[in-house]
Amino acid sequence: MRTFLTMSVCLIALVVAGLYIGEVYERPPGDSLLTVKEAQAAGGKKDNKGSAPDRYVYFPATETMASDEIRVIACGTGMPAARRGEAATCWLVELGNGDKFFFDIGTGSMANVAALLIPYDNLDKVFLTHLHTDHWGDFDALWAGGWTAGRTEALKVWGPSGATPEMGTKAAIESFMKTFHWDYITRLQKLASEPGRIEVHEFDYRGENQVVYNENGVKIRSFPAIHSGDGSVSYALEWKGHKLVFGGDTFPNKWFIKYAQDADFVVHECMHLPGQMVEWYNQAPPVALYVATQIHTSPQAFGKIMSTIKPRRAVAYHFFNEESTRYAIYESIREVYDGPLSMAADMMVWNITKDKITERMAVSPDDAWSVPGSKPPPVGKPGQVPPQLSQEMEAGSWDVSDVEANMVKKFMKDYNLDPKKMKK
Ligand SMILES: [Zn+2]
Ligand SMILES: [Zn+2]
Repeated sequence: MRTFLTMSVCLIALVVAGLYIGEVYERPPGDSLLTVKEAQAAGGKKDNKGSAPDRYVYFPATETMASDEIRVIACGTGMPAARRGEAATCWLVELGNGDKFFFDIGTGSMANVAALLIPYDNLDKVFLTHLHTDHWGDFDALWAGGWTAGRTEALKVWGPSGATPEMGTKAAIESFMKTFHWDYITRLQKLASEPGRIEVHEFDYRGENQVVYNENGVKIRSFPAIHSGDGSVSYALEWKGHKLVFGGDTFPNKWFIKYAQDADFVVHECMHLPGQMVEWYNQAPPVALYVATQIHTSPQAFGKIMSTIKPRRAVAYHFFNEESTRYAIYESIREVYDGPLSMAADMMVWNITKDKITERMAVSPDDAWSVPGSKPPPVGKPGQVPPQLSQEMEAGSWDVSDVEANMVKKFMKDYNLDPKKMKK
């Protein structure tokens, strides 16, 4: 009897374990609700006897892509209010030809970008959907951070015009340079000037499916979005027969339905349910209802959009993706859409080919350094700006040359620097 009981318990345990493993490892086709569990299934060499399956995990800087393959990485999927676990909107697209493009670069996203171990030289093209901080709040980190860490050329930005000239991308970048004037001038004392420059390409936000970028076989088109003011757009990237769409913040709109048709990969915002905005985001009910259903797209509306355009993969973002929110959002989408769906989280990675779209989580370092590119880090021309420290401030220096002397001498020898040419 005892043996029978033990056997029964073992059998039940096995069945339960089987179900559990099934739940963890056999994800529903085209479905990614279990992102955290997927991320835990790390691959790679296990020991000298074999290797773990390379399941669901992307290790940055370890893979080359096929010449017609695309990799998309969610570097920010959250909200305007900051949170350590989820940055605001940022999508990085890498093409098999080496081209890389940002679609938005929201607050907090550059820490995720840096963890992908891509040289700053390859991160110089940014397409902004609109000028809310949760979509370009980390532009400063890319601009100044990349400038100090090896970018060799100007940063290039594409973005929409606004209802008036001062509401457009060009004016925003001009104001940005005024705001960061102290930063710019002081860094210019030593850094090369070109990578500190920002090249702006502003286009008409009303343009329908207009080509705003056309180089190296890559076409990027824009079309209008309906948000809290004129000057929000969505983008479609076309390359080698692939079409990827990145929606800016928007109420459901006819342009998206028209121009995101026949796309392989469609990213569209999907806001929290209004009750979540009240309960967790601390918004007053009338504000929450307006935000969640008038200037953004509700989960049900997201479902209707995707069930109409039927992409190979639909991606929902712009909500804090956690246990308390994701199930209700998911169920709401599923009321109206039963196709392939990703509930985006930061560092989710998709590889897109003609045959398949795979989804994984990046496993990346918290303490990433910048990665050298193909060109050496440039040096500024001496005297390109006058010294920015006055004699009055200089006079307050306290002498440490005695303790630094050996270290400096060794450094100059190691890097072949001529002491006569080195001025302060
Ligand atoms: Zn917005
Ligand atoms: Zn937003």
